Amino acid sequence: MADRRTLEGLTFDNSYARLPGIFYAKVHPTPFTLPPHLIHFNRAAADLIDLDPQEAGRPEFAGVFGGSLLAPGMDPLAMLYAGHQFGIYVPQLGDGRAILLGEVLDSRGERWDLHLKGAGMTPFSRDGDGRSVLRSAVREYLCCEAMHGLGIPTTRALSLVGSDDKVYREQVETAAAIVRMAPSHVRFGTFEIFYYRKQHDYLRQLADYVVDLHYPDLAGLPDRYVRFLGAVVARTAKLIAAWQAVGWSHGVLNTDNMSILGLTLDYGPYGFMDDYDPGFICNHSDHNGRYAFNQQPYIGLWNLSCLAQTLLPLAEKDDLKAALDTYQGTFDHEYRRLMRGKMGLREERDDDTDLLQDLLGLLAGSRVDYTIFFRELGMFSTADDASNERLREQFLNRERFDAWARRYRDRLRAEGSRDAERRERMDRVNPLYVLRNYLAQAAIEKAQQKDYSEIDRLLQLLQDPFTERPGMMSYAAAPPNWGKHIAVSCSS
Ligand code: AMP
Ligand code: MG
Repeated sequence: MADRRTLEGLTFDNSYARLPGIFYAKVHPTPFTLPPHLIHFNRAAADLIDLDPQEAGRPEFAGVFGGSLLAPGMDPLAMLYAGHQFGIYVPQLGDGRAILLGEVLDSRGERWDLHLKGAGMTPFSRDGDGRSVLRSAVREYLCCEAMHGLGIPTTRALSLVGSDDKVYREQVETAAAIVRMAPSHVRFGTFEIFYYRKQHDYLRQLADYVVDLHYPDLAGLPDRYVRFLGAVVARTAKLIAAWQAVGWSHGVLNTDNMSILGLTLDYGPYGFMDDYDPGFICNHSDHNGRYAFNQQPYIGLWNLSCLAQTLLPLAEKDDLKAALDTYQGTFDHEYRRLMRGKMGLREERDDDTDLLQDLLGLLAGSRVDYTIFFRELGMFSTADDASNERLREQFLNRERFDAWARRYRDRLRAEGSRDAERRERMDRVNPLYVLRNYLAQAAIEKAQQKDYSEIDRLLQLLQDPFTERPGMMSYAAAPPNWGKHIAVSCSS
């Protein structure tokens, strides 16, 4: 175990702050008017930066991670970027309510941005107030760790700090701020702003900065920009395949919410599906379903094409196109691999895709709960006389399920699958607990009453979502009626 550091002992190396001033605005967080209080703190993320968990007990902790104090070595700034929002180019966005406090270098030499979201106004706030409401901060805090628990690349969440300061949305709410961590918060939109402003020197400087720090294997290569695109294509394809496999929608897949490292970034009106519905739209404001669940793979490519375009001044068009052309193959390969895992198939066979597509059709037809179904599929019996009743009763058309189940049984037998061994394998990839909207909602409502116990309980479950915990079965259940159609919008 590395030396545990105090807040004052963290080692900062602020590489972004060393880039030309046009890349950002130097700005300090605006302290809350009323005293900040620590709502929750995530030891697992603190470990990543060698921060001593005891530090969370100090009043300075809520000060630093609530925006009223700076730790030595921090050099806060708001990053500049642009982006395509719902398909339309917006020439300037930037961190309007988040501030990069600084970059910690941990004892393993890894770099972690400490990014305070809800930090107050910046020169990029436009009409916004620079704040986040408690509701959206809780949702982001929990989902970062839920995704990590599922093995999906994501920004991490370090701390959640609240204040009684009022924030005005559709209703009056209270403010909160989270610190999220990632090796970099550079977005596709960071490249877009310099491309569209025709500032090609800055574009090259950004590309070299990202390559040198985050794709060091490519540093100095003559074709580094094309290879960089290829690497982002591969990471993004795998990321979105993972979202599809777990039944998760981002909700606002604008290019300013796309990480250059292939991380899940900027949690807003996201959602885990309850009943399987390929057209699932989690964002109440997305009237046309541009970011519907089944559009995500295509939107990933669309966004990557925007990134590729920004590299035109630095690389050959045909080479960039060739890099984009690898997207579909990588996505398909990864999605099929993940879905074979979810179905407990070890071998790859020609008709697996049909078996999967037919299953998804059945799930959609009967609106079966996606997470529960796959977890229970682990209990499938290949015995001759098995009726697999618990699975069967989830379908409206049981004969069609029976027909599918016979094919599945034959397919499993064909690779010599053994029930007990397969179940163990499937339980390690099919989660029992996911952050359903109604679970997040219950935690939010308690937090609004200053009871943070549910945040803590959920975090513990979600950090290891595959392991059954005694007394926690209700957290694996489908939503009650009140929790089925909670409207989640961009307002946060
Ligand atoms: P988001 O939808 O959170 O990804 O944000 C899109 C853009 O709007 C980013 O530039 C944000 O920084 C900005 N933004 C969102 N909410 C606020 C707010 N309350 N105050 C200032 N800027 C905001
Ligand atoms: Mg954003």
